[in-house]
Amino acid sequence: MTTKPAAAAARATVYGYPRQGQSRELKKAIEGYWKGLITAAALHATAAGLRRTNWQQLAEAGIDEVPTGDFSYYDHVLDTTVMVGAVPARHREAVDADPLDGYFAMARGTQDVAPLEMTKWFDTNYHYLVPELGPDTVFAADATKQVDELKEALALGLTARPVLVGPVTYLLLAKPAPGTPADFEPLTLLDRLLPVYAEVLADLRAAGAEWVQVDEPALVQDRTPAELNAATRAYRDLGALTDRPKLLVASYFDRLGEALPVLAKAPVEGLALDFTEAAAANLDDLAAVGGLPGKRLVAGVVNGRNIWVNDLAKSLTTLGTLLGLADRVDVAASCSLLHVPLDATAERDIEPQILRWLAFAQQKTREVATLARGLAQGTGTITAELAANRADLASRAGSPITHDPAVRARATAVTDADTRRSQPYAERTAAQRAHLRLPLLPTTTIGSFPQTGELRTARADLGAGRIDTAGYEERIKAEIQEVIAFQEKTGLDVLVHGEPERNDMVQYFAEQLTGYLATRHGWVQSYGTRYVRPPILAGDISRPEPMTVRWTTYAQSLTSRPVKGMLTGPVTMLAWSFVRDDQPLADTARQVALALRDEVDDLEAAGTSVIQVDEPALRETLPLRAADRPAYLDWATEAFRLTTGGVRPDTQIHTHMCYAEFGDIVRAIDDLDADVISLEAARSHMQVARELAAHGYPREAGPGVYDIHSPRVPSAEEAADLLRTGLEAIPAERLWVNPDCGLKTRGWPETRASLENLVAAARTVRGEL
Ligand code: GLN
Ligand code: ZN
Repeated sequence: MTTKPAAAAARATVYGYPRQGQSRELKKAIEGYWKGLITAAALHATAAGLRRTNWQQLAEAGIDEVPTGDFSYYDHVLDTTVMVGAVPARHREAVDADPLDGYFAMARGTQDVAPLEMTKWFDTNYHYLVPELGPDTVFAADATKQVDELKEALALGLTARPVLVGPVTYLLLAKPAPGTPADFEPLTLLDRLLPVYAEVLADLRAAGAEWVQVDEPALVQDRTPAELNAATRAYRDLGALTDRPKLLVASYFDRLGEALPVLAKAPVEGLALDFTEAAAANLDDLAAVGGLPGKRLVAGVVNGRNIWVNDLAKSLTTLGTLLGLADRVDVAASCSLLHVPLDATAERDIEPQILRWLAFAQQKTREVATLARGLAQGTGTITAELAANRADLASRAGSPITHDPAVRARATAVTDADTRRSQPYAERTAAQRAHLRLPLLPTTTIGSFPQTGELRTARADLGAGRIDTAGYEERIKAEIQEVIAFQEKTGLDVLVHGEPERNDMVQYFAEQLTGYLATRHGWVQSYGTRYVRPPILAGDISRPEPMTVRWTTYAQSLTSRPVKGMLTGPVTMLAWSFVRDDQPLADTARQVALALRDEVDDLEAAGTSVIQVDEPALRETLPLRAADRPAYLDWATEAFRLTTGGVRPDTQIHTHMCYAEFGDIVRAIDDLDADVISLEAARSHMQVARELAAHGYPREAGPGVYDIHSPRVPSAEEAADLLRTGLEAIPAERLWVNPDCGLKTRGWPETRASLENLVAAARTVRGEL
């Protein structure tokens, strides 16, 4: 295909770039500052150097307009809180005393004050700090950071565009400040917030910004008419300002839907829209509103949150269609590149052939630049790139890695019966009772025991070749012995092996499954200075050998009490990895489920009577729009049932999830057809138990009675009180006693004391029945 040169030359841009640097220099500098090892000046210098390197990399890759202000010491939503002066009262003093230390106090808390709450940024694995707003919030503009960073980029001779979190999204992401009525709606503060944005925009204009990008990703979620009205008002008012830069309102992660006509009509100069698979409807919707006459359209055609090379020809087709719909079309990644690692070429352990299928941030910026060039100057100018891209896509599509006939045949042959246990819950529960002979209010834990320094050292020693596999396994076995002995002595009913062999609950399995890739340097920011390396679901998934059986059976050989087998479920395996974009998620989930099913079956065959399949990500993976949720929940719950559906009636399947509210998915949780579910509940005083009861949840449940997120040891009385509260919602025959989550982040002393109290509480309350 050929595309004629666009009328106004298309430009290449992105909305944000990984912050950490090639070797996570930012993490080291910030943590060094926290420890008092480096000064604030040294931290600022490192940060300024990283920003400069990033902009230079972008410019060299052919990005015409670089983003500014996307860099952050911790989180861009927290930066926005500072920009609009919405510092919570409890942090005021710290912020006034020292803005940098105050900033970190808001992010991490101090000895005396709690931090801001942290939650997921839409459906990504990035976490932001939740603004706390109330009727008394007084906003005040402080654009220092945004202005300074713009000036830095301009001083390099670059065309730069500041990026801000938009006012509507900022308010929609906020929660009522402590002490404010729970039904307070932060969006009611819009009229107070807009003048602050007006000031920031004027400051940026004065500092030399021609364009400012205002991100409104909250508008891709289902929005009420009142919320859409707020967006109309916000952009009518900001658009009407006289002293302002041109405004580019950006959305990403999904289609704009009802918000598209609102923004299309707004008196702003440009819109940025996501045109990747997840938001494909934007294309038709844009045509339906008559395009964006007189406006600039920034087209996010390169997926900013996945790591696959772009299909350049396909993107050019999309861009060609868009040319007829706006005055000027520019090319971008669909969202900030914050969500992908920096540079695929750093992965020396990945086969060169496979490496060519991957595009991290640096590679994506080149794709964006190539597409812009093809659009501006005709595809004749990018023939070499198009040919190479075609070859890479063909190599991926034709590879035995992505198409394993055995895996595909097995997935196709799955029947409905494979996803159903042979007896309904009500019948098999009797078989399990007879088989397991547990007391009322049985006690258990969620799986992991403290990941001690010695365990981490052992893993590092193994990696570095200082010890051999046999030596490593001896250390793991010694740990399992200790964990089992402790649980027996303490009197827990269903034991665990403690997961000492696991570096991470997803990575551990990814490393053993064929079709998964691991990266060495593929760090992605999860929150603050915490980075993760998500594995890559690259090909068809199969399990060459059992993954956990020998650890579980070793643990079982040490005790006569039941030892619970412990697996990560298919949905969580997908949620915390980079997923394939060449087949539906449902298909990938099914392949992972079949591999895990083999493990479940092998555990059962080896004598394991209780098997837990963790799905902490089931809820966080919910699609952003309600209309897309039923289909997701269908394949997600089916994958779980396929994982667990092959066991005997008397084998007990547990699942675990780590959140305290989920009225919206109780049906789906029931659809998992697990026998027992454990959940987080200690902090919300058993709210989860009431929600389950309110929805008539018929199965056994263990709402947590021990908050493992802090080193605090709950007393036996406290745990007993929680249990009594739990009993008001769930009958004794169906109530389990367990902590909120795994204990891997805890130390041994508090773990010991807390579990002793938990068992004591169960005994006390059993005595009252
Ligand atoms: N079994 C896991 C553990 O105990 C569960 C972790 C989780 O829910 N995130 O560590
Ligand atoms: Zn958990």
